[in-house]
Amino acid sequence: MSPSRGRPKTGSLPLVLAAVVVLALAVAPAIAGNFTVSLLNDIGIGALVALGLVLLTGVGGATSFGQAAFVGIAAYSTAWLTTAQGLSPWLGLLFALLLTGLSALGIGMLTLRLGGHFLPLSTIAWGLSIAMVFGNVDALGRHTGISNIPALTLGTWSLADRRSMYYLIWLLVGLAYLFSRNLLQSRPGRAIRSLRGGTTLLASVGADAYRVRLSLFVIAALLAGFAGWLYAHTNRFVSPSPFDVRASIEYLLMAVAGGLGHLVGALVGSALVLSLKNALQDVLPLLTQRAGQLEAVAFAALFILLLHFARGGLMGYLMRWWRRRRPAGPGSQETGAPTLDSLAEPVAPLAHRQLPPRGTPILSVSGAVKRFGGLVAVNDVSFDLAAGEILGLIGPNGAGKSTMFNLLTCTLPMTAGSVRFLGRDIVGMPQRQVARLGLARTFQHVKLRPRMSLLDNVALGAHARTGSGVIRAGLRMDRKEERQILQEAQRQLERIGLGDRAHELAGSLPLGTQRILEIARALAADPVLLVLDEPAAGLRRKEKMALAGLLRKLRDEGVTVLIVEHDMDFVMKLVDRLVVMNFGSKLVEGVPAAVRADARVQAAYLGSVA
Ligand code: ADP
Ligand code: MG
Repeated sequence: MSPSRGRPKTGSLPLVLAAVVVLALAVAPAIAGNFTVSLLNDIGIGALVALGLVLLTGVGGATSFGQAAFVGIAAYSTAWLTTAQGLSPWLGLLFALLLTGLSALGIGMLTLRLGGHFLPLSTIAWGLSIAMVFGNVDALGRHTGISNIPALTLGTWSLADRRSMYYLIWLLVGLAYLFSRNLLQSRPGRAIRSLRGGTTLLASVGADAYRVRLSLFVIAALLAGFAGWLYAHTNRFVSPSPFDVRASIEYLLMAVAGGLGHLVGALVGSALVLSLKNALQDVLPLLTQRAGQLEAVAFAALFILLLHFARGGLMGYLMRWWRRRRPAGPGSQETGAPTLDSLAEPVAPLAHRQLPPRGTPILSVSGAVKRFGGLVAVNDVSFDLAAGEILGLIGPNGAGKSTMFNLLTCTLPMTAGSVRFLGRDIVGMPQRQVARLGLARTFQHVKLRPRMSLLDNVALGAHARTGSGVIRAGLRMDRKEERQILQEAQRQLERIGLGDRAHELAGSLPLGTQRILEIARALAADPVLLVLDEPAAGLRRKEKMALAGLLRKLRDEGVTVLIVEHDMDFVMKLVDRLVVMNFGSKLVEGVPAAVRADARVQAAYLGSVA
């Protein structure tokens, strides 16, 4: 492996580009006309909402067609408080965020467990109903809305002028961007970026996918809340239509057009959509009297074209262009690449678990049964496991080995039987809780995040050993713990011989090596028991020997290993004991030599292609 495949060199162009953009934004109000400044204000407000959507939809994989409703909740709260109640707009902000956050929490709790298309559909439902409330409540001015909303003031300085608002808006956009970027490069951020990997993946590292998704949903809504508050005090007037489902789709269009995979995409997309909208509003009336309807058609067409030809949005294009120019450059990672300096400064390692003394019974499966409809995949299987041993589970294809693993890790509910782990009955316990007790696993069908680096994939494994939340991460108060996590991940990567490829993408590894990467992720959890489903499949001989060496070393350190493996040679040399399954039942249990000599085992294997 050439050393150049290690850390990518940080290119200088994006930094220069960022500096140019910031500078241009800083001087814009001084040179631009009123109209342009107003447009830039709208773009900033749109970018805040789109940023939430990049996080929620682009990173987290949950599509929302109702984001404008959150903008509306915040805009109407501050409008009502500052007009009808005569309160300060700053109290309005507080109240707006509170109400938006609570609404998101409530709506999220009701809808985020819905799978597949039901979540996006439900977002349309609440998007419609909230906009309907604005149009029908007398106190909110029904369809005429609320006018005479006061301008913001800072002490004696009034922000009534669009140029003063401009600075506040873009300051908030900048802060929101930094917060989001910090968040993605953190413990909660890795969980957020793994949401698309599914509930089971997150549960296997002790994380609760539902809670992660809920917090992401609230973050996105709060960003929309800031936008709504700014909207109300910039335009000084609110009415229902800017917060209806059509507006929500426009926000989604911004995120898609800019690039759902990039935080900057929110800004780019907002600029793109709002500039286009402005241009259309100039041109269309010249062509037709039904300009408003034509505009909707134009946007619909744009949406469809984007989905067909440019799913990565404008940022996707730019990144591909940049990567072609600099193959090893930054940008080879999706949103939230780890900070490269995190590994430089040494910190105290993460605390280790006290492993049970060698020989203590740690796992006891008795009478395990799993039925899938009429099929009995696991039929009355019992075995015990003592600390510090390597137990092999073998059997022909379809014997029920993976299902057995899913039962004892609580990934699947058991039909009957009991499993005790570290003295506790774990049947019915949530999978993530079992993981937190010290049971780490890998999957026969790998569950890695292909667009995340090796380092980040492994760092996800340390989720349950650490505790930084969204706020700490967003404000970068988690840096010490983050360094501990990344250094732990790097250590585990070195253990499996991939230390010099930490910053490559997991998806670029051959499948066999991806399995080994899953072992590193499991080890990052500091497990008592390591459960490995066919880890050697797809490995070359030398790699298998290295893996066997690693597993023996782990055993010597006191880690217990339970392993399913097809390569008999590999298994026989490695394990202390074997359990053989066939047709869902336990056939034989014993030391390798005895199992190898057993006539029933030979018959089972001769009858299959194992
Ligand atoms: P092994 O890992 O030993 O090859 P599995 O545990 O994957 O075997 O499968 C055992 C049996 O259970 C197979 O017949 C398989 O088709 C069936 N099976 C496994 N998972 C499911 C499922 N989710 N639904 C229905 N049948 C399943
Ligand atoms: Mg299997």
